[in-house]
Amino acid sequence: MKAGVYVSPGKLGVKEVPDPVLERGEVLIRVRAAGICGSDMNTYRDLSRFRGVADRVLGHELAGDIVAVGEGVEDRQVGQRVGIEPLMGCSRCDRCLTGDYHLCPELKHIGFAWSGGFAELSKAPAEKAYPLPDNVSYEAAAILDCLACGVHAIHRLDIGVPDSVVVLGGGAIGLSVLSCAKWAGARFAALSDPLSDAREIADKAGADLTIDPGQDDPVGRVMDATGGKGADVVVEAVGGRAPTFEQGMQMVKRGGRLGYQGFFSEPQAVDTRKLLTSEITIVPIFSYARWGTATEYQIALDGVSQGRLIADAMVTHRFPLEEIDDAFKAAADKDTSRAVKVIVNP
Ligand SMILES: [Zn+2]
Ligand SMILES: [Zn+2]
Repeated sequence: MKAGVYVSPGKLGVKEVPDPVLERGEVLIRVRAAGICGSDMNTYRDLSRFRGVADRVLGHELAGDIVAVGEGVEDRQVGQRVGIEPLMGCSRCDRCLTGDYHLCPELKHIGFAWSGGFAELSKAPAEKAYPLPDNVSYEAAAILDCLACGVHAIHRLDIGVPDSVVVLGGGAIGLSVLSCAKWAGARFAALSDPLSDAREIADKAGADLTIDPGQDDPVGRVMDATGGKGADVVVEAVGGRAPTFEQGMQMVKRGGRLGYQGFFSEPQAVDTRKLLTSEITIVPIFSYARWGTATEYQIALDGVSQGRLIADAMVTHRFPLEEIDDAFKAAADKDTSRAVKVIVNP
């Protein structure tokens, strides 16, 4: 099969590689859409990280058609359209048994431990291939990985009708959190991002306020919008070297919750006295897994199918597999490309 593989630092190319070998309980997927994620960017920029990637084929946000089923697979059929949940826990440990398989010490991802979606074919355990309703496109399904992170944020932060919510960062994760917060009924939801394209998508997701941090002080705008009290909930979704953690500390109300999903390059300083005397709860939000009897991936899929969550609106750029190098360049330099979500169509 053809696959987009690592060639040299910051350079990808298309090569012929062996097809995935189907094992018991697995399904083979003809990939139709695969999203480029921020976590792919870390690997793309750093050769050493590519060594752990199977066949050097990334792509954990994927959807496609089942073209073969392995031995023992009874509830999936050839021809089904499916979205792939890429997280694979061990199914035996304490964390897996309680449903928090994203915290499994042996957690593996399709697109890292296994050859992923930037290829004609990929494979997954049958139960990780979710049949798609007709009204959910392959591209929307490729974004379910981000939307499931948004569902996990709602779960972890207990966001509901009484809450005013501010999301810092309008990448695919931040926009997913905003869309999920509106679905959860938050009476006020705002998003701050310097990219006008991201703010326009936030408007489509029902944002009550968008803030351009290049023009306005986000803390001042949130204080104005909340009568000087601050937001009930702030969700940080940038990381890197952004000042968003401290912004969150300044705009969350006394007794409020500050969640963060961003991977920061450096440890973040926290004023523990302010935390103590304001009883601000800091909540790390990592990946997603199960919420009650449903997986957060399935909850996100239901939300998209019912038209309650945005998905297709986040796709700003599309490339065929042959142009995977351009696709990664667009995702790596969002200031120039104005990309929110880049999709590769193998
Ligand atoms: Zn991802
Ligand atoms: Zn486990």
